[in-house]
Amino acid sequence: MAQIRIEHLRKDFGSFTAVKSSSFTIEDGEFFMLLGPSGCGKTTTLRMMAGLELPTSGHIFIDDEEVSQKPASQRDIAFVFQMFALYPHMNVRKNISYPLYNQGMPRAQIKEKIAEVAKILRIEDILDRPVGGLSGGDRQRVALGRAIVRDPKAFFMDEPLGALDAEFREHMAEELRALHDRMEATTVYVTHDQLEAMQMGDKIVVMNHGVVEQFGVPQDIYDWPATKFVADFIGSPPMNFLDFEGTVANGATSVQLSGVDFQIPEMLTGLQGDLSLGVRPEHVKLTDTSAYRGEVLAAEYLGTTQIVTLRTDHGIIKARLSSSTNVREGETVGVDLDARKLTVFDAQTGHALMSSANKEVLTHG
Ligand code: ATP
Repeated sequence: MAQIRIEHLRKDFGSFTAVKSSSFTIEDGEFFMLLGPSGCGKTTTLRMMAGLELPTSGHIFIDDEEVSQKPASQRDIAFVFQMFALYPHMNVRKNISYPLYNQGMPRAQIKEKIAEVAKILRIEDILDRPVGGLSGGDRQRVALGRAIVRDPKAFFMDEPLGALDAEFREHMAEELRALHDRMEATTVYVTHDQLEAMQMGDKIVVMNHGVVEQFGVPQDIYDWPATKFVADFIGSPPMNFLDFEGTVANGATSVQLSGVDFQIPEMLTGLQGDLSLGVRPEHVKLTDTSAYRGEVLAAEYLGTTQIVTLRTDHGIIKARLSSSTNVREGETVGVDLDARKLTVFDAQTGHALMSSANKEVLTHG
């Protein structure tokens, strides 16, 4: 398997720049997610890594060998597409072994390989079945088998579960992750689904308009978003922003909203002007004693929790509270924010101002 490193990768289509100077490293054996909204450049990035698209500039290394200008056939990558194109007239065994016959591998060795892959995928019992009558899940397993059997340096998957219904999608996501854990194969996976990325990924790159907004482990990205875009794109409901005009000094440990002090992680950079205080819904608490007030606009029951919408002096925010908390629409309540998990953003650039707690994980710059 392989480490993949990209440096200042760029792709222009005419005058349009689809990917602007992306840099990140995928470590050997990682399950790596390229995440972002439609059109952000994730597929273009993957296609450049695979050799299906040539970069306008920048570098791609596979295990320290520069492959930026090499064709796909010389990169030893297996691509698993959303539409699992199997050979309909062949049975499962032949579908999987086809790439090996093409390579001229001896029959006995092919037999061994098929047995090994069938065991990994747990499809020993369907090897002689025609692919025509297989379920969606089995078809996906066969397509994966055809990729695995080649022993590639890495697997690339572009929204492989996109066409599946929600329940089956979740099942296949678990299966793919478990398969990865058994094989420990470097896997790069494109998705626009933040939940899928959080559940499956060892690391995530979040892209927006061709730019890498943040790169890191799921928990750091959730807890310490580098930009307002990431804070908003990840999480459901997304992070709240309390907009205010003010000054945050270097080394500050609190900000003031409507005369009320809120503790924040220590700031390492300061700023004056339009700021946004970011807080996740689960870090908003209702406390009678808090001098900061909000009006309850709505409460949405979700079983064990409820999402309560509040109007504050600094905008509408949502709190995730236990369903047993009693709230009435129209009442005014005290609002408290969990000091350990607050992020201050520059409202103009959208960048998080670094704090000592998160300085390691913020990657914008
Ligand atoms: P999606 O999930 O919708 O495919 P994406 O993040 O994977 O989104 P890309 O497919 O990488 O996005 O496309 C990024 C941008 O580049 C889009 O605006 C797309 O229209 C544009 N683009 C992609 N391929 C080409 C091409 N061959 N010629 C011109 N523009 C292209």
